[in-house]
Amino acid sequence: MADGTRPSRYDILFEPVRIGPKVAKNRFFQVPHCNGGGYRDPSAVAEMRRTKAEGGWGVIMTEQTEIHPSSEITPFIEQHLWEDKDIPAMAAMAEAMKSHGALAGIQLAYSGINGPNLYSREVPLAVTGGPILTFTPDPVQARTLDREDIADLRRWFRAAFRRSRQAGFDIICLYGAHGFGIFQHFLSRATNRRDDEYGGTLENRARFLREVVEEAREETKGEMAISLRLSLHEGGALGFSNAELRDFIAMHADLPDLWDLAQGTWEECSATSRFAGEGAQEGLVAGIRALTPKPVVGVGRFTGPDAMVRQIRAGILDFIGAARPSIADPFLPRKIEEGRIEEIRECIGCNICVSGDMTGGISRCTQNTAFMEEWRKGWHPERVRPKGRSETVLVVGAGPAGLEAALQAARRGYRVTLAEAEETLGGRVTRERALPGLAAWGRVADYRTGLIAPMANVEVYRGSRLTADDVLALGAEHVAIATGARWRRDVVARRHLAPVPTDAVMPVFTPDDLMGGHGPAGQRVVLYDDDHFYMGSVLAEWLVARGCGVDLVTPGVKVAEWTEKTLEQGRIMRRLLSLGVRLHLSKAPEAIGADRVTLACIWTGEMSDLPAEAVVMVTSRLPEDGLYRALKARAGDWSGAGIASVRLIGDAAAPGPIAWATYAGRRFAEEIDTEDHRGDVPSFRREIAGLEPGPSLLPPPEGA
Ligand code: ADP
Ligand code: SF4
Repeated sequence: MADGTRPSRYDILFEPVRIGPKVAKNRFFQVPHCNGGGYRDPSAVAEMRRTKAEGGWGVIMTEQTEIHPSSEITPFIEQHLWEDKDIPAMAAMAEAMKSHGALAGIQLAYSGINGPNLYSREVPLAVTGGPILTFTPDPVQARTLDREDIADLRRWFRAAFRRSRQAGFDIICLYGAHGFGIFQHFLSRATNRRDDEYGGTLENRARFLREVVEEAREETKGEMAISLRLSLHEGGALGFSNAELRDFIAMHADLPDLWDLAQGTWEECSATSRFAGEGAQEGLVAGIRALTPKPVVGVGRFTGPDAMVRQIRAGILDFIGAARPSIADPFLPRKIEEGRIEEIRECIGCNICVSGDMTGGISRCTQNTAFMEEWRKGWHPERVRPKGRSETVLVVGAGPAGLEAALQAARRGYRVTLAEAEETLGGRVTRERALPGLAAWGRVADYRTGLIAPMANVEVYRGSRLTADDVLALGAEHVAIATGARWRRDVVARRHLAPVPTDAVMPVFTPDDLMGGHGPAGQRVVLYDDDHFYMGSVLAEWLVARGCGVDLVTPGVKVAEWTEKTLEQGRIMRRLLSLGVRLHLSKAPEAIGADRVTLACIWTGEMSDLPAEAVVMVTSRLPEDGLYRALKARAGDWSGAGIASVRLIGDAAAPGPIAWATYAGRRFAEEIDTEDHRGDVPSFRREIAGLEPGPSLLPPPEGA
């Protein structure tokens, strides 16, 4: 509510809950999540977690923390607790996590069959040896742990428990979910094919877990809480099914202090909004709480307090687990506590955050532009620095970049004019939210327009396509040109750097045409995708819904290849096949005729013809930078008009994902009235590895 009080029905979310020897102040539980920073960016990660503490989370967990160099998952960048030298970085993180009364938890991982050890070069050790099971088919196998190795592993875990305690954590989480942690590998018959006392019956497969939990209690003197993070359901004939998980929990009801349950693989658990809604794991977790006296945390991309309250009241969960909703809005608990529901910055379920981990870059979030920039740039998810000496800002274009620029500049205290050519604010998300499965993307616009609307220092002009003359006449001191981009109508992208011969008779459409409602219906369509992200497959769905027969052509060896980074590729493949979309992989158009498209195999050059009545090009985008170029040409008029700076931002500068545009908007706003180094120094802080003395590679001096 606007008066800062919350409806009493949400009070239940703020009850304290006991976790073994610790008490969480409320039911908001930030489950472990990667961030692409890990051991490489310790201060950036710690500061990111500090904002969660400030935002009111009762429990905050680290990401996967590798306990030993014999099991690491390079190229993914997680945390290390390999030796005492790793303690200070983890202690700094624990301190940040506990800074506002949250409990700090560390997720300890031994990756076993999931860790190729590309960095440490150790022979991987697994419950049962075999090829490493990860996202890439690394030509590496693991050796089966023998009894001595298991004793070593228990000792390594003990050392990690001691180090976790020394670092100041409250909770130890043993990772056995998503196919990533050794505890799941022991429990599952798919990865445990042993015939000794650690294999076979469920009791035997659980032995290692029982031993390790007992040793954790000893090592931490019962002062730390122990949680188990397990998969709710592992698919496949031999997988650790939901039924077997329930048997396991019933048999070991008192084993941990908390059950942290997450669906199957990471792809299943972190489904995008295109493929799963809020609370999608309810069926798999319902009823488990009755099997154990210990609290249960579950996830489900919860962003709305009513859905959270329902799961607590229904006795399904004790804690509301959240990774992505806590990334999109670290202040989610605080906003609910204070009744500021309309200020919640809801996760849109796009998994751009995941792509940061998958690419080895640093994660970013479409909605929370400060994510992983808290330390690097001093940005905050809720606050911006006060304004500098200028007064006025003009933002041209109200897509994701322009809306974020206007919102953050206004928060800083500038007088902002926002001009948009269309009647509706939102730019590309206004169009894309109407596509199949992308409705939640509209939250990018809704959140920002909702906050801007009541601000007295923002004036919004809709239906106003500005010219260079208009911008000069308005005379704002700082101007952001956020005029977006449009899709190309030809093949030019990655495969082709120049157009191919095209018969004028063939109707050729762009994604913008289709989103504008102009596209084929009931025809045979060739859709060419050299973009490799979501748009091609989404438009294929759109075309099928319009009664078209679709041939999807791509030079990729898979459809929508980049969506592996957002964990969607498998689902996209299944959906396209189930819709009857015909896939033509490793192919690209050589010519577009009046009634056919001639394709060439990208490997052999072999030609083939596909009959077509229409073509849709999903290739690349052209920046709409005409206004910016016109203004640059008149730079001599700027100072007379009172203009100090003009910046081109977002898709108009370089088309990219929505997250790139919101980031650009934030950056523009943050940098108003700051010194422009023109790229001569990095725009962010970074940590450089400490140098250690080591043996010289040079031969010893003569006579030495
Ligand atoms: P981004 O992702 O960079 O924010 P979008 O394409 O989503 O880009 O948004 C750009 C917005 O700019 C669109 O809503 C478009 O209508 C608007 N626009 C383009 N040119 C002008 C202009 N000259 N004056 C005002 N608005 C413009
Ligand atoms: Fe949610 Fe997308 Fe942000 Fe990830 S990047 S937290 S999925 S909005």
